Amino acid sequence: MADLFSHSLFFPMLSVLLIAGLLLLWVKALRLRRSLEEARRACDRWAPAGETGAPGAAIARRIEQVGERLERLEQQRKEQEAVFVSMVEGVMALDEEERVININHAAARLFGVPRDKARNRHLQELARNADLQQLVTAARSGDQPVEGDITLFSGEDRHLQVHASRLRDAGGRGIGVLVVLNDVTRLRRLENLRRDFVANVSHELKTPITSIKGFIETLQDGALKSEEDARRFLEIMARQADRLNAIIEDLLHLSRVEEEAAQQDIELKEQPLHEPLQAALHCCHHKAETRQISIELKCEPGLCARINAPLLEQAVVNLLDNAIKYSAPSSPVEVEVVREEGGIAIRVRDRGCGIAVKHLPRLFERFYRVDKARSRQMGGTGLGLAIVKHIAQAHGGSVTVESTPGQGSVFGLHLPG
Ligand code: ADP
Repeated sequence: MADLFSHSLFFPMLSVLLIAGLLLLWVKALRLRRSLEEARRACDRWAPAGETGAPGAAIARRIEQVGERLERLEQQRKEQEAVFVSMVEGVMALDEEERVININHAAARLFGVPRDKARNRHLQELARNADLQQLVTAARSGDQPVEGDITLFSGEDRHLQVHASRLRDAGGRGIGVLVVLNDVTRLRRLENLRRDFVANVSHELKTPITSIKGFIETLQDGALKSEEDARRFLEIMARQADRLNAIIEDLLHLSRVEEEAAQQDIELKEQPLHEPLQAALHCCHHKAETRQISIELKCEPGLCARINAPLLEQAVVNLLDNAIKYSAPSSPVEVEVVREEGGIAIRVRDRGCGIAVKHLPRLFERFYRVDKARSRQMGGTGLGLAIVKHIAQAHGGSVTVESTPGQGSVFGLHLPG
C-alpha cells in the first residue's frame, strides 16, 4: 500500500517538475533569442558593412556568448523533452482553450492516436470523456491539483488514475493544465479478482455450515428422539464437515504453492518422472477400482525433468481424480509422457463426459465449475485445477486442456526441458 501511494504521488510530481522545467527553458530560450536579435540589430547599426570598430567587436563577442548559452539551453531542452516523451506515465499539457500543447507517446497511446496527430487538438476531440473533462475544468478553476479515476472505453476498457494541475508561467499567470495519466487497469483487475475470491470462499464455506447448523437445530427440536433420524442427520453433518475440511485443505495447499513459488522456495531437481507418476497412479488406484476404471501409464523409464516430485505427484493426482470422477464406469484413463518442443508434456486422457468449449478458458480459475451441483455431489472443491495450474507455474511450465463433449478430455501439464 505504501508503495502504491508513493508511486501514485511520485510520478505526477516528477511530471509537473519536468513540464515546468521544459516551459521555463522554453521561456528562457525565447528571451535569449529576442535579446540576441536586438543585439544583432544594434551591432548592424554600430558596425556597418565589414567594419569592426571597438564597440562593434564587444557586441559581436556578446552575441557569440549569448549564442552559446542559447545552444546549451536548447541541448537541455532536448534532453528533458526526450525524458518526457519516453515516460511510462501518460503526460499532456493543455493550453487555456484545452488544446494539446504537448503530449508524450504513452498518453497518445491511451487515447489511441499518434503523438503528432494529437498535438493542437482539443481535449474533447481526443477523448469524449465527461469525467476527464470535469477533472481538467476543476484543475483550471482551482489552485490545488485534482485527482480522480476515469475509464476510457476504446475496444477494451482502460482504467486510468488522473492527476490534473494548473500550469503557470514564471509570473504566476495560468497558462493551461498539466494532466498525468496512470494506467491502473491491471491493478483494478487484480483487486476485482481478490474481491471475487473472498466472496467465493465465503460462499463455499457458508453452504456446508448452514446445512450443519440446520441439522443441529432439527436434532435439538426433537429429532434426537428418533435414533434412525438422528443417525441419518449425523451422517449428513459428517459429510458436510468433510466437505469443509476438503475446501480448507485445498485452500491452504493453493496458498502454500503460491507463496513458495513467489518466494522461489520450491526446490526443483533433475530426476526421472516415472516415480512420481507411478505414485500418483497408486494414490488413485482405489477410487478407480471402485468404478472399474483402468489407468494406464506410458512413460519412458529414463525420462527426466527438473521437478519437485511431491508437487508433481499432487498435480497428476488432481488430474486423475477428475478423469475418474467425470468418466462413466469401466471407461479407460491414460497418463502419457511425451517429449515436445521446448520440454516435456504429461497428458491425462479420459473418455468421460467432456467439457463444452465455452467453459475451457475459465476452467483453471479457482472455484470455476461446469456443473456446480455435480461437482459438489462428487465431493469436488472447485480448486483442483487451480492447484494444478499453480504447480505447473511453479515448475516454469503451463497447463492446457482439449475436450469434446461426450467424447472426453485431455489435460496437459507442460514442463520446460
Ligand atoms: P472440482 O473439484 O469441481 O472437480 P476442479 O478445479 O478439479 O474442481 O475442476 C473444475 C471443473 O472442471 C469441474 O467442476 C468440472 O466441471 C470440470 N472438469 C475438470 N476435469 C474434468 C474432466 N476430466 N472431465 C470433465 N470435466 C472436468
